Amino acid sequence: MTSTGGGHSDPIGQRLFELVHRFPNLKEAAGRYEIILPLLRDADLSGGPVAIPAEPARAKMAGGLPLLHDLELELDRGAILDLMVRLISALAEVSGGNRVLYDRIKRALKNHRLDIGTLLSPVAADIRQAVQSEAHRLDLDPDLLLVLIQNAPKPALRAWCRQLSPLVDGIPWPNGFCFICGAKAILGELQDNHLVKHLRCGQCGADWQFSRLACPHCGNDDHHTLRYLYAEPDLEKMRVEVCDKCKNYLKVIVSFDPTSSEMLALEELETLVLDYIAQDQGYGCSIAGGRGPIAG
Ligand SMILES: [Zn+2]
Ligand SMILES: [Zn+2]
Repeated sequence: MTSTGGGHSDPIGQRLFELVHRFPNLKEAAGRYEIILPLLRDADLSGGPVAIPAEPARAKMAGGLPLLHDLELELDRGAILDLMVRLISALAEVSGGNRVLYDRIKRALKNHRLDIGTLLSPVAADIRQAVQSEAHRLDLDPDLLLVLIQNAPKPALRAWCRQLSPLVDGIPWPNGFCFICGAKAILGELQDNHLVKHLRCGQCGADWQFSRLACPHCGNDDHHTLRYLYAEPDLEKMRVEVCDKCKNYLKVIVSFDPTSSEMLALEELETLVLDYIAQDQGYGCSIAGGRGPIAG
């Protein structure tokens, strides 16, 4: 962490400070988030307007297709590349370790050796696999590369989400993947005084209402095979919902107001204990799979 006390002017920094105070073992991860999240939030990367009128958008969603699926999208690859260079440079500053790994990726980005087109293309559904093989081809650290590829498109995706969400207001979306970008929901939220369950997308920030008693992974709604697990002492604030049919789980938090898209990653970090609890009991990872069909 770059700061030593509370009283941060940036809400992200303040929230991370409080989080590390509670969970000292998250200090290293929090240091990374403190670099990445403000850069993503402040990135000047609008994504450009999406040409889809309201009626076709509503019809597409009613047919079960994410709105960005098969759309001609103007993803500014130059700007994304630039953001990736800024991210890796900033991460190198706080790494305190082997800077060679960071410098190697930075050089590959600057020399245009990385196949950004493939890594950001909609067919790269299994993004981990694509990143692995590209990292292997260029002798780069796969984990670091994955952080960049997963994060750099977020500002454009969030801009598209802000633009498209109002067009389809009120259309039901009974799926566990995002109605904007197709990524799997990262978190459930119980919103407002009635604790209405919503799912949230960690990529574009989308927010959609979802059945209170159904598994977002397989659709199972048999209450005999759905359970809640809790983490002491936060019984009231968060839980993990597990499904004995598909053996997957979803972390769910109580947040009366919807969490802003840039703060979602912090909620995910703060609920890490729930991942341990669920995985310890043999349930799979809630965010497994691809990033979803984003711009090519
Ligand atoms: Zn999304
Ligand atoms: Zn299930």
